[in-house]
Amino acid sequence: MNTERDELFIDGAWTSPSGSQTMPVENPTTEDVMGHIPEGDAQDVDRAVKAAAGALDEWSQVPAEERAAYVAKIAEGLAARQTELAELVTGELGMPINWSNMIQAGLPQLTFGSMPDVLSQVALEEEIGNALVVREPRGVVAAITPWNYPLHQIALKIAPALTAGNTVVLKPSEVVPLNAFLLFEVIEELGLPAGVVNLVTGTGPVVGQALAEHSLVDMITFTGSTGTGKRLGEVAARQVKRIALELGGKSANIILDDADLEQAVGAGVFNCYLNSSQTCIAQTRMLVPESRLDEATDIALTNAQAQVVGDPMAEGTTLGPLVSAAQRDRVRNYIDKGVAEGATLVTGGSEAPEGLDKGYFVQPTVFTNVSNDMTIAQEEIFGPVLSIIPYRDDDHAVEIANDSQYGLSGAVWSGDDDRAMGVARRIRTGQIEVNGGSFNPMAPFGGYKQSGHGREAGKFGLEEFFEVKAILR
Ligand code: ADP
Repeated sequence: MNTERDELFIDGAWTSPSGSQTMPVENPTTEDVMGHIPEGDAQDVDRAVKAAAGALDEWSQVPAEERAAYVAKIAEGLAARQTELAELVTGELGMPINWSNMIQAGLPQLTFGSMPDVLSQVALEEEIGNALVVREPRGVVAAITPWNYPLHQIALKIAPALTAGNTVVLKPSEVVPLNAFLLFEVIEELGLPAGVVNLVTGTGPVVGQALAEHSLVDMITFTGSTGTGKRLGEVAARQVKRIALELGGKSANIILDDADLEQAVGAGVFNCYLNSSQTCIAQTRMLVPESRLDEATDIALTNAQAQVVGDPMAEGTTLGPLVSAAQRDRVRNYIDKGVAEGATLVTGGSEAPEGLDKGYFVQPTVFTNVSNDMTIAQEEIFGPVLSIIPYRDDDHAVEIANDSQYGLSGAVWSGDDDRAMGVARRIRTGQIEVNGGSFNPMAPFGGYKQSGHGREAGKFGLEEFFEVKAILR
């Protein structure tokens, strides 16, 4: 695997960036530099956007089924490099290899591969009286993506954008960027028309900003922090650009008093800690009935202590490092803040886990007796910190769950499915799991409130990338 990258992919070819600066990519487990990427600039962005704009007319006229077939071929190319891809992401991100293999390398294949089927679910043309209503591509799409599920986020944007006939410039996260280069090697082999999809790497404030602001960009699709999302929202508003935002979360796992506590708490701890909690849908608030707080806390403690923290390449590891020193330090600060604001620390803490002084590891941490107005219950931590919050009755649980600036995901557990469904319908989030309902990669994904707007994945995700035109006859 080539981890030393000095070229961008623009207008159908690998090409030198305008400057000669590169950025290091760090392995968060070893703290070693594992590669480099080009540090692009506004000139590179301009070239890429112009290439995308130049390719739009031709690509938009390729029949949609043919476009979807191209996109599905990306899945085959990725499948052929599955192991390499999983190991690469584990290297640059730190997710345990088995999960990386399934999620980081597996999920993008599902998304790319699903496009022919997803396309068949959307009516590209319909009639309303004398109007022929047609769905057309929005134009040039700027895709700006984060580091936590890097290729998955890229796939959720590129796959539907290209299927709908848009052309794309991708600015992946500079923190976990090498997987994007592997993707573009796969794309290069497909022989798509030049300019249809382009890759420019660099920092957010330089490359990301220039891309979002470029006058030839018609739509911004972004996943990342709420702060950056708001900034991009302002850019889009100034130029009346379309924008889709997938931002933070602070999801509540509501365990009702008749739930199987072992199962509900165990699943909740697992969900919270997946990918070291660097997951926007992580269920970081666990809501339990006051009467069962001690019992739930004990079960959470047992589950947290069963986590195996260490080398993500080692068999059996469940919790790898955080992605960077900055991220680790942020999370440690949150843990200190939790203690300072009076939450009860059950296990974990802000010191490095024993024997793991190298690498950006944080102990799996559980707080109980957390009140929902504490910082650790309100802010997205993006580190393995679970907050257990007691509630009085179902109404109180719903009130706490909805008392958040975010609205991305959540869960409800009950011995009675109808009761769980009743609560689920009252939670103001874009997704919610009932009694362990499993992740569905084709279900619409996105947020209420400050978790963003627009939906990704499946049919709803594809629809974001169309404009609607009425041809009156
Ligand atoms: P995170 O903290 O999860 O990395 P960010 O919002 O900082 O979230 O980053 C997500 C993506 O947004 C990255 O690709 C990053 O480079 C990019 N980005 C950061 N700042 C800006 C900005 N001002 N304009 C455009 N893109 C940005």
